[in-house]
Amino acid sequence: MIDAILIEKSESGQSATLTKVDPAQLPAGDVLVDVAFSTLNYKDALAITGASPVVRSFPMVPGIDFAGIVRDSANPAFKAGDRVVLNGWGVGEKHWGGLASQARVSGDWLVPLPDGITMRQAMVIGTAGYTAMLCVIALEQHGVTPDSGEVVVTGAAGGVGSVAVALLENLGYTVTAVTGRASEAEYLTALGAKTIVDRAELSHPGRPLARERWAGAIDVAGGVVLANVLAAMRYGGVVAACGLAGGMDLPTTVAPFILRSVTLAGIDSVMCPKPARLLAWQRLARDLDFAKLDAMTNEVALADVIGMAPRLLEGKVRGRVVVPIAPQLG
Ligand code: NDP
Repeated sequence: MIDAILIEKSESGQSATLTKVDPAQLPAGDVLVDVAFSTLNYKDALAITGASPVVRSFPMVPGIDFAGIVRDSANPAFKAGDRVVLNGWGVGEKHWGGLASQARVSGDWLVPLPDGITMRQAMVIGTAGYTAMLCVIALEQHGVTPDSGEVVVTGAAGGVGSVAVALLENLGYTVTAVTGRASEAEYLTALGAKTIVDRAELSHPGRPLARERWAGAIDVAGGVVLANVLAAMRYGGVVAACGLAGGMDLPTTVAPFILRSVTLAGIDSVMCPKPARLLAWQRLARDLDFAKLDAMTNEVALADVIGMAPRLLEGKVRGRVVVPIAPQLG
């Protein structure tokens, strides 16, 4: 039997429990992985609490990412003993996910873990950090360089935000961190933020165009915060938008786009094509200062994940939540 968090639905609603599952129940797939570490992401917290209809079929093992060792493979790209990482592809939403001691998945979804990154480090980074890397790459692809001007990161003390701040600083950018938690200013400065902005400054509907401040932006908030970020972009600025922690809507105007040539680049990590994933993980291995990971790590046992989920959604967790499942695997 394997350990797993299982989300079930009955007439009285949805519930999540830590339980034992017969591995024969694992879904179809050509690679069986012993999970060493998984994580609690924002989307996992939505799935576990049922706050949003993330889960598409029941029962479901949540966990949109994991790092582990291949136990069995019928896929020519992988063999027993390979170290792998998985992010997205609907895992933890419509295919059983990483918050379990084993996962059976399609080998097409797996990325070989680059040398130099441990499985624990891979999950401290997790889907949040890999998404932060996709955002940084998008800024680069649209021509934002450290010389372009300041780059702003919203939701900076969360998972995506923390890794984004650390990555940008290491790449030579001047980083402004937007946070709703003044208490995290010291943490964000240590990660590499030069300026801290109180989220309240960006939380009220503003003018279509504001004073030009930022050359680049990584936004996890959406809603009014993203609208205000767009309004304050410099001429030719680029915004990589990946999240909705502040809302699904976007109450903006076309002014930043047609008067300041601002680009809004959407970032999706779930269905992101494999070459872009491989590049993102290689770039993480190269461009992230791994010494900064400790400060952003909360380690939570599988048994405590369900209790942690509401706190994550309330924005009370700093950085990333890593879940050791079989840490002895390396
Ligand atoms: P976290 O919960 O770790 O961080 C979210 C942060 O957002 C919080 O820590 C807080 O930071 C900030 N925040 C909270 N409430 C609000 C609010 N009302 N308005 C503005 N900011 C708020 O989540 P992640 O960093 O893992 O994920 C962030 C977002 O990105 C989520 O919406 C998630 O679904 C999305 N995401 C999207 C992906 C994609 O593929 N597009 C992949 C991964 C994540 P602070 O206290 O510093 O303000």
